[in-house]
Amino acid sequence: MMEELAKGALKFGVALSPQQLAQFEVYYRKLETWNQRVNLTSIQGYREVQVGHFLDSLSICLALRDGPWGLGLEQAPPQEQGTFSLIDVGTGAGLPALPLKIAFPHLRVTLVDSVAKKTAFLTHLLAALGLNDVSVKTERAETLARHPDHRESYDLAVSRAVASLPTLLELSLPFLRVGGVMVAPKKGAVAAEVARAGRALTLLGGRVHHVTELTLAGEKRALVVVAKVSPVPEAYPRRPGLPKKRPL
Ligand code: SAM
Repeated sequence: MMEELAKGALKFGVALSPQQLAQFEVYYRKLETWNQRVNLTSIQGYREVQVGHFLDSLSICLALRDGPWGLGLEQAPPQEQGTFSLIDVGTGAGLPALPLKIAFPHLRVTLVDSVAKKTAFLTHLLAALGLNDVSVKTERAETLARHPDHRESYDLAVSRAVASLPTLLELSLPFLRVGGVMVAPKKGAVAAEVARAGRALTLLGGRVHHVTELTLAGEKRALVVVAKVSPVPEAYPRRPGLPKKRPL
């Protein structure tokens, strides 16, 4: 069961238990069934989902393991693991946050997507997986980031395949506490995208801490790690739609 995932995760230093692999199996089955009615993923097939979705999501832990943040994305015994809050902006079918939650159950997770059909899938899936400490929000990130329960409060923000870096920074940095980090997985060459994000970083109080490069199934990937160094000014994020339409 989920052999490809189990092998690949071990290479990242993550040993998945039979119970965790069974949760990934359920995730795969639910994705496959729901995808016939709701457009959740273009990646299909047992092997493809294991690599393109599950391993790709887990690779995020490679960017944080050696950092100064102590976010606990390593497999310490449960009593030594702190609780960290993670928000996934534009999570779609729960990616990348849910594979991270399955592998690192101590995370407290918030999944945000504006499309109700996708969040209905997530609510169904969470019940099937029996995961605790995961909340699902059907909202635009621009709106949720204005809510005091969510603004400046998370340790870690992730977001995959949602927008280019300048837009992503405006959607994600408001959720982080100062000292928190954002990880944006990117495909292909990333240097130009990082260069274009200079103005957004300055305005929003972010600093690119490092970029971790890796190869997954022969494809080059990069994980851009942004540290939040100062609070996001009140003006951001701008009203829904603007961060994408007119990136900073
Ligand atoms: N992160 C998932 C993944 O990697 O498979 C989904 C990627 S999908 C291409 C982009 C998702 O972001 C969509 O589900 C869309 O509804 C959501 N999205 C885009 N902009 C958003 C916003 N401003 N607020 C909330 N969700 C947003």
